Amino acid sequence: MASKQEPNFPLRLLVDKERNCIVLAEANRDFVDILFSFLTLPLGTLIRLVSKKKLHHPSDEIGCTNNLYQSVENFGSEVFWNHICKTMLLSPRNPCEALCQKLKLKIDDAEPTKYFMCGSCRVGSDVLLSTFLGASCCSCGELMDKEMKLHGDSTEENHGHGGGVFVKAETMYLIFDDLKVVQSSPGNSVRHLLQLGYKNFHKLIEMSPSVGMSEILDLLKQALTSKSPLSDVFLANEESKKMTTFSPKLGPKIVKCIHNSVINLKVTVGKSRKKILYAETEGDFVDFLFSFLTTPLGSILKLLNGNCSMGCVDNLYKSVKDLKDLNPSLFTRPPGTDPLLDPPVASQFGCWRQPLNLFEDETPSYWYGTGVIKNNICYTSKNGVISKKKNLIHNPVDMKLFEPRSPDGTREFAEGFVRRPSLFVVWDDLQVTHLAKTSSISFLQKLNVPLDDLEEHVVSIGETEGLNLLGASLTSKAALTDGLFYLLKKPKEESTA
Ligand SMILES: [Zn+2]
Repeated sequence: MASKQEPNFPLRLLVDKERNCIVLAEANRDFVDILFSFLTLPLGTLIRLVSKKKLHHPSDEIGCTNNLYQSVENFGSEVFWNHICKTMLLSPRNPCEALCQKLKLKIDDAEPTKYFMCGSCRVGSDVLLSTFLGASCCSCGELMDKEMKLHGDSTEENHGHGGGVFVKAETMYLIFDDLKVVQSSPGNSVRHLLQLGYKNFHKLIEMSPSVGMSEILDLLKQALTSKSPLSDVFLANEESKKMTTFSPKLGPKIVKCIHNSVINLKVTVGKSRKKILYAETEGDFVDFLFSFLTTPLGSILKLLNGNCSMGCVDNLYKSVKDLKDLNPSLFTRPPGTDPLLDPPVASQFGCWRQPLNLFEDETPSYWYGTGVIKNNICYTSKNGVISKKKNLIHNPVDMKLFEPRSPDGTREFAEGFVRRPSLFVVWDDLQVTHLAKTSSISFLQKLNVPLDDLEEHVVSIGETEGLNLLGASLTSKAALTDGLFYLLKKPKEESTA
């Protein structure tokens, strides 16, 4: 039940008592905004929010991505360039953070971005800014802990459409048990009720549950794992969840393009079990896998062409698409790329050398000055001022940004999240083991497989293979086998092309 302090959303449910399922729900814009905001959440955030709910069950897990998350959690910070990288993966930044701050209910509990400078260094020509707490100054090595407020942040401006975050129009929406969303109208209601086999309201009773944070988090969890989230949450009618089986898509042979890079991976197959047991790899592949955690659900769906077969998020994605095609004016238009259908990875949270067409949000320029300019008058500030807008700043100096994904905090040497060089083993279920402290003899002993049953292969992971791996990791408990084993098949099935 929603507590008194938190916002409560009116939700009207039509329930078929006989079949114990929800036929139709009607909600207002605020509720739909929150439902759609699921698409902006990075995978790592989804895993964190879902595992917060009690009664955690393996069928509530998103494929085997929980193992990736758990591996990051279990690693000491020495595996990463610094402890910030670890935090970034466990608590990834939402690229639409500023928009989501305006939601009536904030489900993303990640800390909003804060800005820090070095308190020890005198401000000269090089001014360093960190958007992460706990960064060490590149010049003096001291902790950058002087918090600055960003002046004139455009995100604070209202987009001028009366409160909606993603959805502008103050209309009602119909939501189906499988999270399909359409605009509410008598016509739409009739059509959908008839489609579902209801000629009248005789069999249907009405419910108006109170909806607060707990129900929304339940809904998120079910959306990712079940085909009937509304019935699951409001009628406690959890259908038995079936694991979807993943089948890899065969795409064109690896094409190397400017943005993407191909990763070569050494995999070890258990011949008798016809499975990939593990992959032996260096930093790039591990960084690629870890970057799934920082990628928003909407961009994952974009990459997978709207089909990830996870719960019913495909329907949610398609509903946004259909609603936008039908009536673009229903939606707000924040600057930048589409925050729901194509959200970028937050700036500085991406992976550099990876095979997918995945883009990081543009890193803004930040300016430091001795004061702000307002109506041509300069107001100096003892602590200095920072802003994304050069014209608001007196004596503006272009700031350098602290880069956590590098050995020394500078952008020029950005490598990735994990420290190089290092060796890892990635298991079929995406658990990651750091080999620094593991003896390979004990490793093989623990593996407990006849040594002559092991067979080593090298596979190249380009875009198609990368997408298959991503798809498999979201729906399967054996991501390497389900996503990559097809590459090892004997050339019998290969087409002449
Ligand atoms: Zn310093």
